[in-house]
Amino acid sequence: MSEYVNLIPGFCREVLTMLTCAGYEAYVVGGAVRDMVMGRPISDFDITTSAFPEETCRVLEGAGVRYLTVGIKHGTVTALVSGNEVEITSFRVDGKYTDLRRPDDVVFTRSIEEDVKRRDYTINAMYLDMNGEVTDLTGGLEDIRKKVIRAVGNPDVRFEEDALRIMRGLRFAAQTGFDIDGETFSAMKRHADSLKQISSERIAIELNGLVTAPSASKVIRDSIPVLSVIIPELERCQGFDQRSRYHDKDVLEHTLAVLDGIPVDDKTGRRDLSLSLAALFHDIGKPECFFLTPKGIGHMFGHPVRSAEIADRVLTELKYPNDVRKEVDILIRYHDHYPSPEKSNVHRFICDIGRDNADRLFILQKADIAAHAPEGRKRGGLLDEIIAAGKELEKEDAVYDVRDLRISGNDIIDLGVMPGPGVGKMLNEIFDAYIDGKIHNDHGELVSYAARLRNINSLYKI
Ligand code: ATP
Ligand code: MG
Repeated sequence: MSEYVNLIPGFCREVLTMLTCAGYEAYVVGGAVRDMVMGRPISDFDITTSAFPEETCRVLEGAGVRYLTVGIKHGTVTALVSGNEVEITSFRVDGKYTDLRRPDDVVFTRSIEEDVKRRDYTINAMYLDMNGEVTDLTGGLEDIRKKVIRAVGNPDVRFEEDALRIMRGLRFAAQTGFDIDGETFSAMKRHADSLKQISSERIAIELNGLVTAPSASKVIRDSIPVLSVIIPELERCQGFDQRSRYHDKDVLEHTLAVLDGIPVDDKTGRRDLSLSLAALFHDIGKPECFFLTPKGIGHMFGHPVRSAEIADRVLTELKYPNDVRKEVDILIRYHDHYPSPEKSNVHRFICDIGRDNADRLFILQKADIAAHAPEGRKRGGLLDEIIAAGKELEKEDAVYDVRDLRISGNDIIDLGVMPGPGVGKMLNEIFDAYIDGKIHNDHGELVSYAARLRNINSLYKI
């Protein structure tokens, strides 16, 4: 019995035991085994079995376990065990992939040797039985030891069957920090164009996993020929000399240094998605905006807007949700914008873009500044002052929207102001006074200030 047995949660062990006792082979498979061996947190447990789907259902029924059959055509039965969902997939031989996406037909098999051939990478092709013993038919353990991502079988064939595997491979490399095996990587490049035929949603999931992963920058640097199929403008960034004393890196290297500067969350092991995407795209419009002065100095005016446009086009094509697109857009548009650091000015700026966006923007700007040449890092002091003002506002429980003031339109009408546009106008005037530090966000104080405004400004009188 191996050490892994203790890492199999009870609900999984129950399913493995049921199937094994009924005379079938049953294993935890895929990412869970990979992550166990690597000592990483495990996200979900998938089970595979030599039982055919109807047989799996019978075993579960016999044990009084409820299950769902939505995926049964592809061989997956979802067992509901003590409040957990466990996907149990029968050993499968995948049919031919005529549309590069989905198997045309699914053939079940009793043979683990057949099932392993359909799995994408050796590190994802290990099977763990109820005793914690690993069956490793493709050298996954060795590849984990060598820190290599290697396709199962002939990589050209595997990427021809399903080009999404290319993106999955890049994502695994970024998450694990492993190298991609040379032959596998050459095949990725050869088949990169097929990514155009993969659904946007599936690409977006993998791109998200890639950009937010700790080793994203290394993988992106090495795989520009692949990623350019999805983001063509990346290609020109590589080696693009900015000809500026503020920069000592080309556009791509600067971009990757910024991405590296976005902190990885200790708990999740990932970076914030919008920040990662914003880092990746923030300067992507630079090559298009570049011009040289007669003295040979490079300028890239307008690049934040152009970069935001490119990002939005790509993210729209990949069907990203509106909220992510919007956050990324704001971060890119404002990445070069530094308000003067007086508290009221910073307060207004945060009102304009929103507190969450501002907090993200400051992180992006910190990373951006750190990725400049010493001459370009001088803005760091200004950013520190802006951030300090932002922190002070937080300490004071500042509000960033007139609607969050502790005074309402009704309070103003109660003071005798005519209902209508004057009420909103007065609220805005009060909000301005609050931001300028003339009054606090205190109901009594705000109401007396409103009363004063009503007295001195005839516009507010009935
Ligand atoms: P994670 O869940 O950490 O993203 P995973 O490896 O578990 O990674 P899943 O998408 O959950 O990925 O798939 C489970 C297993 O199914 C994989 O480990 C792999 O063996 C197999 N698999 C998934 N997608 C593919 C694919 N496109 N081609 C071949 N095998 C795949
Ligand atoms: Mg998984």
